[in-house]
Amino acid sequence: MAKYVYADNAATTKLDADAFKAMKLWLLEEYGNASQPYSFSRKPKEALKKARETIAECINALPEEIYFTSGGTESDNWAIKGVAFHNYDHKATITSAFEHHAILHACKAVERFGYPVAYMCPDRKGVITPEKLESYITDETILVSVMFANNELGTIQPIRSLCEIAHSRNAIFHTDAVQAVGHVDVDVKKLGVDMLSASAHKFNGPKGIGFLYIRKGIDLLPYVDGGAQEFGMRAGTENVAAIVGMATALRNNIKFLNSNQAHVINLEKMLLQKLDANGISYVRNGEGQTLPGIINLSFNGKDGEAILHRMDLMGISISTGSACDSKNTEISHVLQAIHMPESLAKGTIRISLGKNNTEEDVDAISIAIKRIIL
Ligand code: PLP
Repeated sequence: MAKYVYADNAATTKLDADAFKAMKLWLLEEYGNASQPYSFSRKPKEALKKARETIAECINALPEEIYFTSGGTESDNWAIKGVAFHNYDHKATITSAFEHHAILHACKAVERFGYPVAYMCPDRKGVITPEKLESYITDETILVSVMFANNELGTIQPIRSLCEIAHSRNAIFHTDAVQAVGHVDVDVKKLGVDMLSASAHKFNGPKGIGFLYIRKGIDLLPYVDGGAQEFGMRAGTENVAAIVGMATALRNNIKFLNSNQAHVINLEKMLLQKLDANGISYVRNGEGQTLPGIINLSFNGKDGEAILHRMDLMGISISTGSACDSKNTEISHVLQAIHMPESLAKGTIRISLGKNNTEEDVDAISIAIKRIIL
């Protein structure tokens, strides 16, 4: 049987081997509760401190600005709800229509409690322009949340400019950088952001752990009430093993950022060249700056979900931009937000390559697509 090919790295990634090794100690031997005062807790406490410092260094933050969470979804919920519910004047939140559901559904939740939210549509290239934000923002805006890079299209947003606009109106700026952290340079000081969400399993860390960067001085509600963990803002016994795994994975990805990027971009180019050489007609979605490895392709008149299943039968995991039930095809909110014509949207797939993919993987993907499309 042909080798299995994993090409859905935007959904999750393989755990970094060093991260796995680093985690074991805190599960099997040094399993003490990091918040207890006795000596058995000294090492886990120290490990937690070091992990916080490592993560802070990777994004140019201060250690006390890093709050551990259960992942991207929780970080996003905290940012949206923690600011909205803390604003007794019911000032508005602005976000984009193509955010991950972690943001969109958190926004819907605050709307149900009477806090207004406005949703900006990206342009056809998959970008929220500074002009778009200018046309939405008012002095009644409390929070602007725009993702660093879109998870379906890979398009990188002009975060620094958007952030400057938010600050010019005294609004707080949050970015969901779940797809970006560990894959491209993310420097919170250069960007100027007030809050930033990240998730370990997207950068070869373990699942169920992430963090929210909250700039010193930003005022929002605690997310989980209970013990004094995470500076009294997010209660619950710390998952030391997962936190150490996350820090190790992030440090490794940052250490090899340039070579990983070059490797993935090379694979990406190879794949497109092979499709071209085979005379396969496709549209590549998402223009301008994109995340390395995210390749969003539309095959006019084809069925993206059928392509996904046929590739699955050939041992290749990818993702799609549409899902069918017995009567209808549900086009993803991202493709709807960029107003993609239906016949293209229905035939859309997302291939997301990572540092563990190889040229053989790309060969297998291009052969599979040729068999299905031609
Ligand atoms: N935000 C974005 C942009 C994502 O792509 C994802 C996951 O796909 C999330 C948030 C949710 O992250 P998690 O799986 O850690 O909850």
